[in-house]
Amino acid sequence: MIFDTFVMVDWAGGNDRGAAPKADAIWACVAGQDPVYFRSRQLVEVWLHDLFMAEQSAGRRVLAGFDFPFGYPAGFANAVTDKADTFALWQWFADHITDTPKANNRFDVAAQLNRMCDGIGPFWGNPLARDIDDLPRKGLDRTPNTFAERRQVESHAKGSFTCWQLSGAGAVGSQVMMGLPVLQRLRQAFGTDIAVWPFETPDAPIVIAEIWPSLFVSATPSGLVKDAHQVRETAQYFANLPQQDLAALMTVDAPEEGWILGVPQQQAKRPPPLRNDCFAMPQGAHWTPVDEALNHLRANLRCVKAIKTIPTNKAAGRVLGADVIVARSHPPTPNSAVDGYGFAGPAPSGELTYTLVAGRAAAGDPLGEIVPAGHAVRILTGAALPDGVDTVVLQEDVAVNNGHVSFHGPLKHGANARRAGEDMTSGQTVLRVGRVVTSADVATITACGVGNVAVRRRLRVGILSTGDELAQAGAQARTDQIYDANRPMLCAIAKAWGYKAIDLGCAPDDRAQLRAILDDAAKRCDVIITSGGASAGDEDHMSALLQGTGSLALWRIAMKPGRPLALGLWDDVPVLGLPGNPVAAMVCALIFGRPALRLLAGSDWLEPQGYALPAGFTKSKKAGRREYIRARIENGQVIAFASEGSGRVSGLSWATGLVELTDDAQTIDIGDMVRFIPLTEFGL
Ligand code: AMP
Ligand code: MG
Repeated sequence: MIFDTFVMVDWAGGNDRGAAPKADAIWACVAGQDPVYFRSRQLVEVWLHDLFMAEQSAGRRVLAGFDFPFGYPAGFANAVTDKADTFALWQWFADHITDTPKANNRFDVAAQLNRMCDGIGPFWGNPLARDIDDLPRKGLDRTPNTFAERRQVESHAKGSFTCWQLSGAGAVGSQVMMGLPVLQRLRQAFGTDIAVWPFETPDAPIVIAEIWPSLFVSATPSGLVKDAHQVRETAQYFANLPQQDLAALMTVDAPEEGWILGVPQQQAKRPPPLRNDCFAMPQGAHWTPVDEALNHLRANLRCVKAIKTIPTNKAAGRVLGADVIVARSHPPTPNSAVDGYGFAGPAPSGELTYTLVAGRAAAGDPLGEIVPAGHAVRILTGAALPDGVDTVVLQEDVAVNNGHVSFHGPLKHGANARRAGEDMTSGQTVLRVGRVVTSADVATITACGVGNVAVRRRLRVGILSTGDELAQAGAQARTDQIYDANRPMLCAIAKAWGYKAIDLGCAPDDRAQLRAILDDAAKRCDVIITSGGASAGDEDHMSALLQGTGSLALWRIAMKPGRPLALGLWDDVPVLGLPGNPVAAMVCALIFGRPALRLLAGSDWLEPQGYALPAGFTKSKKAGRREYIRARIENGQVIAFASEGSGRVSGLSWATGLVELTDDAQTIDIGDMVRFIPLTEFGL
């Protein structure tokens, strides 16, 4: 995906425009150079041909952008050529369009195409004095036709025109008809050395792509020709774009209509919703083992968030939406790892003396001269090694006298020097899609020259409590009420995981009200986590409502703490119904909620890391059931919270982790090794 030369062309559909540079004519610009005016298509075709040849023989890869659609709305290629193949359509235009500086037949060809399609149209716009049969002068004179008015990508390119319109200010239809034959001839001239994005993989020496300069170009300064300004800025935009951003923009699926380079398709397209049966598990009398439940989540959940690009320095905590590819090797050039004296190594053994050259090499302040053989240069940590230097001797190991530096060899070739790219090499993948960016990653990404990263939009996690007994934090509560502890806890957990927590409040045990809350929540959340009301009792309205959607799965999990989890979809939004007991709610959130949310957010599956430690407690339990015990480490042993009561909130604060007792464990004695999972391993 690395390009060396970026050339952008602003096309025109009309005839020869004369020698003096004009607006609304053909302009082209190579990034870093001045825009060039072309009075006719014939001239720009020759220029492009020569440019491609020159760049190709110099071994430079070219990205060439053209500001007209490369395809028509879906189905048109097939209607004209009997093939759903855009290049067949390009060939059709190359065969039917005649083009000289003074005249071309585009309006008659449009009429011919209209005759091949049902109804009146789809092409329209005849600015000529003569009427042309089958080519209406106005768009409204057409009858509905079988093709869309716009290509899919155009709904994301504000202000773009439809390719059916051939005349009128800003119309692009003529440019397409007069541009495709030129591109087709270039394709034929360069064969497999040209790839047309997005129809072909953009890995040829020359890649041509459709652009829409208005996407990223600033207003034209007065006195400049708009087209000239636009091609210059667009060329510069692509030349400056980090490689991986360009790669992300080139990752689109647009087999027939084409796509505008620069319109991110992933951002435009929301991932499809989850399947209604994504939580369905074979039901039976048996209790589902924890691992089976986890495997089910892993197999059935996937990312629901689109991608956007943000500056690297804002990326900590975000989920990478694309691999990070090293844009520039680190270090970019060999440099010194120490303060000392640089020379051409290796140094033989024995007493050695080198003549010092004048000046010094410091970080950010290179010497700029060659160091001749037998000479050495004063060099500081981080300084680029001057030509003639590949080895550095530590300043502590030398004596400097009268413009000479002496020390005892031997010293290996390359000693105390850092090789170019020894840390990261340009083009290498340094971080993988799905990773949650750490503070260290921000350094790594920055160091390798990547200033913007593709990340998933933040997962919006709605948190809802249910129950008539709940009083709100800080409020007066009757003795038959308890404070709603789960909601602030789950909100804090969602935030700690890097998501946007949306507080959905507290729902009474009333089906109609709960339904209204869920309806509203589904509009502004990507996932809803509820606590309470998840079982199958009279007041368990959450499971009852999910039941009505046909997507409810009540998971009876062989786990303590925990009762059934109610999982389902409400208006395509996944709902995780956790038990009401705060201890169970938290443990279920950590064990099931965390991996589930990670997948929805675009992250990878992650199992918490546990550590084997001797038990400082005794316990007997039922076989066939996983148990999680609030625990902490004291004197190298794991001790358990005094009570296993699922309502004992304070035990959650006391604990620094959970002990995970395996499904088949039955008795634990002092000193037995148990698996302790620190809360930090759950991202808390
Ligand atoms: P439920 O799952 O609705 O049957 O609730 C189980 C237990 O958890 C009951 O004792 C509830 O009062 C309690 N509970 C439910 N929701 C919360 C909450 N948000 N905060 C604290 N305790 C709760
Ligand atoms: Mg309840």
